[in-house]
Amino acid sequence: MVHHYSMYINGQFVDSQSGRTTSSTCPADGKTIATFPMADATDVDLAVKAAERAFRHNYWSQSHSAQDRAEILHNIAKGIRNDIERLAKIEVMDSGKTMTDVSTVDMHWAADCFEYYAGLTTQIYGEVLPVPGDVLDFTLREPLGVCAAIVAWNYPIMFAAWKIAPALATGNTIIFKPALLTSLSALELAGIIHRSGAPDGVVNIVTGSGSEIGEALCHHPGISKIAFTGSTETGRKVMRMAASTVKKVSLELGGKSPHIIFDDIEKLDNAVGAALLGIFFNAGQTCIAGSRLYVQERIYEDFKSELLRRTRLIPVGNGMDDDVRMGSIISEDQMNLILQYIESGKREGAKLLAGGRRLTQGELSRGFYIAPTIFECEHDDYTIVREEIFGPVLCLMKFSSEDEVIQRANHSPYGLAAGVWTSNIKRGLRLAKQLNAGQVWINQYLMISNFAPHGGFKQSGYGKDLSKYAIDQFTQLKNVYVELCDEESYITTFE
Ligand code: NAD
Repeated sequence: MVHHYSMYINGQFVDSQSGRTTSSTCPADGKTIATFPMADATDVDLAVKAAERAFRHNYWSQSHSAQDRAEILHNIAKGIRNDIERLAKIEVMDSGKTMTDVSTVDMHWAADCFEYYAGLTTQIYGEVLPVPGDVLDFTLREPLGVCAAIVAWNYPIMFAAWKIAPALATGNTIIFKPALLTSLSALELAGIIHRSGAPDGVVNIVTGSGSEIGEALCHHPGISKIAFTGSTETGRKVMRMAASTVKKVSLELGGKSPHIIFDDIEKLDNAVGAALLGIFFNAGQTCIAGSRLYVQERIYEDFKSELLRRTRLIPVGNGMDDDVRMGSIISEDQMNLILQYIESGKREGAKLLAGGRRLTQGELSRGFYIAPTIFECEHDDYTIVREEIFGPVLCLMKFSSEDEVIQRANHSPYGLAAGVWTSNIKRGLRLAKQLNAGQVWINQYLMISNFAPHGGFKQSGYGKDLSKYAIDQFTQLKNVYVELCDEESYITTFE
């Protein structure tokens, strides 16, 4: 018997008004795991009304002090930690990720994120400004109201934490829409939130398609802000739709990040390891994947042979298996899209060095697996070098000088992240300044922290997730000017 999940609206576990449902299929083996509601605009409207009531009538940012909100966030973190193994298993089945990654990274990180923002709730306030005259001028940092979050499928529980935690810390109410392909961990999180002490309507979780409920959220006049994580193409649509009611928007979008290896590195092995992690972690389905790898010419051949040797050793398979390091692709459609990119690489003349095909041996035939793939690219004009593939496909390129690689790295509409390997710290810092990306790693790749802002430049979006800077995305500043002089000495400057 397949488990049926309900949505979470106004503190109640409910089905969609239409009664429509959909099912979640495990991309690793094709089995149906669960069913859940397919909401439409009517359900979105109910969620918005509940969130408005919770925000306006109960005014939860005032009825619940910063300490109360911190306690709720701590309770959510505890709820995740107490149930990690079970939650991780559901996430793995829903997404095709590996159990190792989800149980040791994603779940802990989500819990850490709720705790991090619990710690910030008491640090959110305005300031007194030195306006001249007999005046007291100060700012109030206020919540926005009802926020909506719409997210991608590649890190489901983490994205729920990244959006819900800062929204609650700042006193907003929120409607969270997970990706249709990976809704289960958010629906599990609903149960944890229900037991956390959060008042009814403060968090609402609705499930369904982007074209139906995503658009309904973007158009709804009751919503003040859309926090979006997804593709650049959808991000543009979200901006356009949000413009009709001038909603605030933050966009975490796509990337095609450069990973640069200079010939002065101390240990080639470490840089090779980072290059592999950078592209093959989560089967390449990571917005900050280091999908353009630039290696300096003097070490190029040695680097390439070690990279290929270790790529061939990566165990690919069902993520439930402890030995597997790379799981399945999220869906058949996504797998076919990646295979089309691989074909375009071959057609346009890039040299296939590893992988380049679907894996179908034994049990793998039931799921959607692609072999870790590396192309050697003579130049940067191939489609596979320019466009985000969002799969385990690495473009390997040679460069000769620092100036050349900076220019090539920056030659992209995206600007999400970049990595630099060098033992020359001045060079590393020069690149950190010159690379046009929201995040730069030196002698490291893919590391993100709750303490540090995450978000892109250029067409990778704007606004920041994580860190104290996300507080700015969920608050607005009000200025209060108080005249202090006595009535009799008050001077008007008009008539
Ligand atoms: P997507 O844009 O297709 O979908 C993202 C979300 O938007 C989903 O919840 C989807 O249902 C919803 N959506 C789709 N159409 C919509 C519409 N018309 N109106 C409103 N909502 C709509 O992206 P995806 O395929 O789920 O995710 C992959 C993309 O996300 C990649 O480009 C990746 O780089 C990006 N991403 C970025 C970050 C980041 O932090 N910058 C993180 C993860 C993923």
